Amino acid sequence: MKSTQSIDSSYRGRFAPSPTGPLHFGSLVAAIGSYLDAKSHNGRWLVRIEDLDSQREAPGATSEILYTLEKLGMEWDEDIIYQHQRTKIYQDALDILSKQDLIYPCVCSRKEIADSSMMGLSGPIYPGTCRGSPSPIKKAHALRIQTHNDLIEFDDILRGICSQRLSRDVGDFVLRRADGIYAYQLAVVVDDAEQNISHVVRGADLLDSTPRQIFLQQLLGYPTPRYFHLPVVTNALGEKLSKQTNAAPIDLSNALMQLVSALHFLGQKPPVEITEGNISSFWQWAKENWQAEQIPY
Ligand code: GLU
Repeated sequence: MKSTQSIDSSYRGRFAPSPTGPLHFGSLVAAIGSYLDAKSHNGRWLVRIEDLDSQREAPGATSEILYTLEKLGMEWDEDIIYQHQRTKIYQDALDILSKQDLIYPCVCSRKEIADSSMMGLSGPIYPGTCRGSPSPIKKAHALRIQTHNDLIEFDDILRGICSQRLSRDVGDFVLRRADGIYAYQLAVVVDDAEQNISHVVRGADLLDSTPRQIFLQQLLGYPTPRYFHLPVVTNALGEKLSKQTNAAPIDLSNALMQLVSALHFLGQKPPVEITEGNISSFWQWAKENWQAEQIPY
């Protein structure tokens, strides 16, 4: 059956791995979901390496991830961008937010925050201890953004309307850490806008981050892309596959089977003969028959 989705060449999607380890089945699902959704709309697919946090980076992981994508036949349409080369752009965005008087320095330790906070959707809700404290300060400090309690709503392509109130559910959040590293939430928003990303297709572990990203987009005057959160792959213990849960790297000696399994995980129904073909026939079938609405969640 052909996809019912319309062809839209203004579609720009992306896959944005953090090089904390090699690609595993969970990240492969995010890669394939974003790739197929872009390609089935005749769109472009970009790869961005989210390597701001050098302490979490595994040596060689970036080249391993790119090598695996290539071997699996997933071609990116534009030059790869590397976040570690772009800190000036993130600082410029932070300056714009500072001019709106929304940024403040925070010297609270993790323990102080944990001891004095309620749990929210993404950890303790910062109680605002440093809000209103004088700036600039000499001591090493994080930079937080003051949130509001208005409803932030978006229409996820798979899940429908999702909403959050940031002050109630998340609290004021960090945009630059005390060690000087720009936070994921800031960098992802700047890069999605700079790369003109129209569709963000990624794992549902990031669903709760989306309202923070929309909040920043609104303050920075950026458009909000469409969001599409894929189901998260878990292990037998129900834990998300990740480096921390020792997820196995993708086995390239069996590349076609890995692709077929990921397609099944995404609710697609390839014919059994697909396993008798090759990677190129796999992609041909997958692009022509991608049906986003079949994805279970
Ligand atoms: N870099 C993030 C990760 O590897 C994904 C970010 C995103 O897709 O927005 O989990």
